[in-house]
This record gives sequence, structure tokens and C-alpha cells, in this order.
Amino acid sequence: MSLNRRQFLATSSLAAAASAVNLRNLLASTAQAPQAPPATAFVNLRGTVGYFTGQGGTIGWHVDKTSVVVVDAQFPVTAKICLDGINERSGSRPVDFLVNTHHHGDHTAGNVVFRPVTRKILAQANEPRLQLEAAARAAKNAKPGAPPPAEPVVADTTYEKTWREAVGGEVLALKYYGPAHTGADSVVSFEKAGVVHVGDLVFNRLHPYIDKPAGASIANWIKALEAVAADHEKSTVFVFGHAGQKFQPTGSSADLLFMRDYLTALLEFVRGEIKAGKPKETILKITDPLKGFPDHGPLIERVLSAAYEELVG
Ligand SMILES: [Zn+2]
Repeated sequence: MSLNRRQFLATSSLAAAASAVNLRNLLASTAQAPQAPPATAFVNLRGTVGYFTGQGGTIGWHVDKTSVVVVDAQFPVTAKICLDGINERSGSRPVDFLVNTHHHGDHTAGNVVFRPVTRKILAQANEPRLQLEAAARAAKNAKPGAPPPAEPVVADTTYEKTWREAVGGEVLALKYYGPAHTGADSVVSFEKAGVVHVGDLVFNRLHPYIDKPAGASIANWIKALEAVAADHEKSTVFVFGHAGQKFQPTGSSADLLFMRDYLTALLEFVRGEIKAGKPKETILKITDPLKGFPDHGPLIERVLSAAYEELVG
């Protein structure tokens, strides 16, 4: 019996009376009840470029008369909604490039939806390995009896440091700034539109996920954000992987530098606590907001432990 079913039995007022057959019927009818579609939005940003929000990392898109580019793929359900919207705008032409900014499931699980209509899936050279390793871990940790996780759909085209190609009336350029959020983050520029998708290099006013097992480096993430800001015109619009509830998934280089300052403050704060002689367990339980970053809310163990690991190893 699965945990959910046991929880259901434990919490349902029907539990005492429900026979196994009744319970099975009840669970089946719940599973078949129509679910409300997830909230999604298509937003035009500049020229041929816009973004899509649904579940998971923000998707970027470019559609002109002769080309289609998509940046990140969320999960299958919203990927399908996104692809339908792109097809409406493009007249159902193939997708020239799907870019994965990094391997996390909320950016790549929807690859399976785009694959049949996509010429090339692009990513940094370390990305497919990280995605396959994560999938193997998920399969190994799957609960007994659970359906096997879907086969990962990974990039078929990779680059080491930079990649650049004209696509329709746009120029698509990718750059790897070294380990940051993971060990394979691409920064994706639509050069003519002046729009740059930075993937999860920016969690806009939100505690980030810092994937140390996948090669993340807070110290280099700080440098990367500075370099991305310096590499682009002041007028560039940036698209962020995630944003806090009251904040936008797009912004300016000032938001990149704010994220840099947050990461610097996080690292310095944990360094100070270690210096003060506090044990790891005490540091990881701190919940005061990081000074100067009230919008992020209370500190959380996830970011504290990543910073601790980076400083102490
Ligand atoms: Zn991520």
C-alpha cells in the first residue's frame, strides 16, 4: 500500500467504513476528475522575442517568418500548452532550436513534447551527462511499485564555451561562464532583439537552488553574474528562470547585480558564523532574513548548507 493511500485511510472520515472495493472506486473517481489547467501566460517582450510562464523555469521564445527558437521546456503539461501557443504564432513550423539552459527537470522534462518537432536541442557540453545522472538517481530512488520515470530526452548538440548562429532574422548566441547554479549553465542571447535568457543564474528575489552535487559554485556564480552584466548593453532585457511571488521573471542588469549581492551576502554571512565558532547544525537552523535582503524572507537550510559546504567542503 502506498504512503498516500495509507495517509488517505488515516485522514479520511470515510476510512472506518470504507471497504477495499469502495475505496478503490473512490480513488479511481478522484483520479479521473477533470483537473483545472495550470495557470500559464504568453508575454511579448521585444520584437520577435517573448516568454512563457507555467510550471517551472520561465520559457523564452523567438518566432519570426522563417525561424522558431525555444529556451527551456518546463514539464510536459505546460510544454504542450507552450508549444500550442508557439504553433499559433509560427503557423506550426518546426522549432529550429530548443535550448536547455541547464539540466534540471523543471527546465528539461518538457523536452519530450518538443523533440518530435525540433531540429536541434542545444546545451552546454556538461549538461547531457548531468541530466542523465539525475535521471539515473531518480530511477534508483523510485519507490517500489511506482511507474518507472520517463526516459530523459537530452540535447543532441553541445558546445564548450560559446556557440553562435544566425537563425531567421535573429542571431542566437550561447555562452558558458563556468560553474554557477550547476556545472552547465548557458546564458542565451537573442542578439538583435536585445533579450538574454539567463536560466537559473537569477532567482529574482527568491532563495535559489544551489546544486552542489551537479558542480555549482557560489563564488564563481558571483563572478558570472558580473560578467553577464558587463557583456551586454545597458538596455538589454533579461529573462530569469524563477521569480518571487511579487516579482517579475524579467528585468535589467541591476537585477543580475542584486542577485550577485545576495550570493555575496550569503557566503559572507555563513563565513562569519563559522568564524564565530558556531557548529554546522546551529548555522543550518538560522531563519533570520539575510541582512539587506528582506524580500527573500527567512533564511532556509538549503542555501545555508550549500554555502557551508562551499566554505568548509
Ligand atoms: Zn535550476
